[in-house]
Amino acid sequence: MNNTKIDWCDSTWNPVTGCLHGCEYCYARNIAERFGGEVTGKETVKRITVKDGSIIWDLEKPICKTDGKISPYPCGFIPTFHRYKLDEYRNKKGRNIFVCSMADLFGDWVPDSWLDEVFAACKKAPQHNYLFLTKNPKRYVELINNTDFFVKSTNNMWFGYSYTDKHSKTWWNPDYNIFISVEPILEPIEAPKCKWLIVGAETGKRKDRVIPERKWIEHIVESCRNNKIPVFMKSSLAPIWGDPLIQEFPEELKRK
Ligand code: SF4
Repeated sequence: MNNTKIDWCDSTWNPVTGCLHGCEYCYARNIAERFGGEVTGKETVKRITVKDGSIIWDLEKPICKTDGKISPYPCGFIPTFHRYKLDEYRNKKGRNIFVCSMADLFGDWVPDSWLDEVFAACKKAPQHNYLFLTKNPKRYVELINNTDFFVKSTNNMWFGYSYTDKHSKTWWNPDYNIFISVEPILEPIEAPKCKWLIVGAETGKRKDRVIPERKWIEHIVESCRNNKIPVFMKSSLAPIWGDPLIQEFPEELKRK
């Protein structure tokens, strides 16, 4: 079932790619720029407006000029809506799907209409669990407060946000499944209130890469234990933690 190297989900699904956050340690940008391809004729793409002046393409079928295949990142890391991917998991066996591993779907630049379409596609395939992850949890709050968007969300939707140091913002709402991704962990921190916590180290070869100390990991595990939060250690912690890694799931996400 697993078609991804990301060990806390079964599959990834990228109806939207690209991100404007500009994190130094971004793995997704490197992949998108490396495998980006130039698309053919203008009839395959439609340019739409965006708040901050960046270019966003709303793609129907981006055929790559070089090899005639559909390009996964035809616009590199520029935010892009791949509408043709909306039904990708419609008829597949139930699994835990990380939605938009190559984007921040809840970045301020993402139009509400894209979110509406992605959520509509999720509703059409209720056999899956959908895991969203953002560096911008205030967009969750805005959507909850200003529209009936999330009122329509269901128990198979999990709303995650990144929390990497003490300055990161927290979010809690008992009406939603909320998880936290502490990746990369940059200092010893307490676990914020959540239903699941994922922790990992920075990967890649960045010059100033932060290598976590074992006691930071012990601290966050202890904090999770005290608050009965399941912990999932990413394989990037193996050199620091050793075997076995703690890889727990909330009951609803356990693989059957
Ligand atoms: S939020 Fe994620 S996808 Fe966006 S730049 Fe940062 S690491 Fe990359």
